Amino acid sequence: MENVVTRKRICSKGDGLLIPRMENREAMDETSSAGMQACWTCGSCDFECPVNIYTHALRPQKIVRMANLGLWDELLQLPEIWYCIGCRRCGHICPNVVKPWALIEYARRAAIFKKYVSWESVQHMQRLWMHFQKIRWHAVAVCIEGGEIETLLDGQVEEWLNQEDYRSDAVIRQGVGQPYPDTLKLLNKSCSTTHCYTCSECSSVCPISGNKRLFDPSGIVRMVNLGMVTELLNTPAIWLCLGCRRCSDCCCQGVDGANLIQDLRDLALSSGAVDFELKIRMENSFRVVCQYFLREINLILFPSVERAGGLQRQSV
Ligand code: SF4
Ligand code: SF4
Ligand code: SF4
Ligand code: SF4
Repeated sequence: MENVVTRKRICSKGDGLLIPRMENREAMDETSSAGMQACWTCGSCDFECPVNIYTHALRPQKIVRMANLGLWDELLQLPEIWYCIGCRRCGHICPNVVKPWALIEYARRAAIFKKYVSWESVQHMQRLWMHFQKIRWHAVAVCIEGGEIETLLDGQVEEWLNQEDYRSDAVIRQGVGQPYPDTLKLLNKSCSTTHCYTCSECSSVCPISGNKRLFDPSGIVRMVNLGMVTELLNTPAIWLCLGCRRCSDCCCQGVDGANLIQDLRDLALSSGAVDFELKIRMENSFRVVCQYFLREINLILFPSVERAGGLQRQSV
């Protein structure tokens, strides 16, 4: 796979330059359902994208602009489309309801179909995604205990990935003999948790719930319904949620999983279960973890280039 856009500029004509192909635009907009033609290049999505904030390596606006210029083939060969973590924050912030994440999802499927990325690489990246969640879980656990991740060495990653002994709060059990906490009654009321009939649809659509012992939205709803306040407020899991709202959108019972997790975070802070510096330590730690994630993706896509010192990126 050749990273075309790192070595070419967009221009109306000329050899070695990217030529806009406007005739592609309508078809791409229709098939991706991203509403990309409404983009007015305000750049809000760039400032909202966590991967861009932590690494400066993924600009959703650039991806939408390339699509709007009809640079479809070039877009499919961008490594950036594989950096996206699917949080959908770019779509939530967009004033014109453009969905850069939908364009990225569509571009990934097309890149696989066109064989710009091998199926073996895709499977490798899927495994990496699972590892990434495990590393994030451990990073949050370190932060909850007052630490911070400053560097991520391969030895540390290996130790975390081989560790299977998670906290007992990953297992749901009845809060024996304890009165149901008022705080959780309020969460029940605002997020309709008691309507849950444990179908697990939310867990199926959640992009990060591949390993249910680490993160499971339906499990969190059940824990609320069982009154397990201490376990919930102390688990790293509530800090892993990306806020994409897929769980809330899919629930036929109207349970608002995304809001519930946000409320649990607020409750953890206001009750003193975690300290107010936690968010700062997590931001710093996620920056390190995210850079590690991107480096691993580059190693899958461009092993020789990455080993020789990394990709050079150029703005479009
Ligand atoms: S926030 Fe929306 S309008 Fe602004 S650059 Fe991003 S996609 Fe375009
Ligand atoms: S969905 Fe992807 S592109 Fe959009 S904000 Fe999240 S990581 Fe960035
Ligand atoms: S989708 Fe709704 S009803 Fe099903 S487990 Fe999740 S919260 Fe419960
Ligand atoms: S908002 Fe829901 S679907 Fe999205 S990451 Fe959080 S729990 Fe999973």
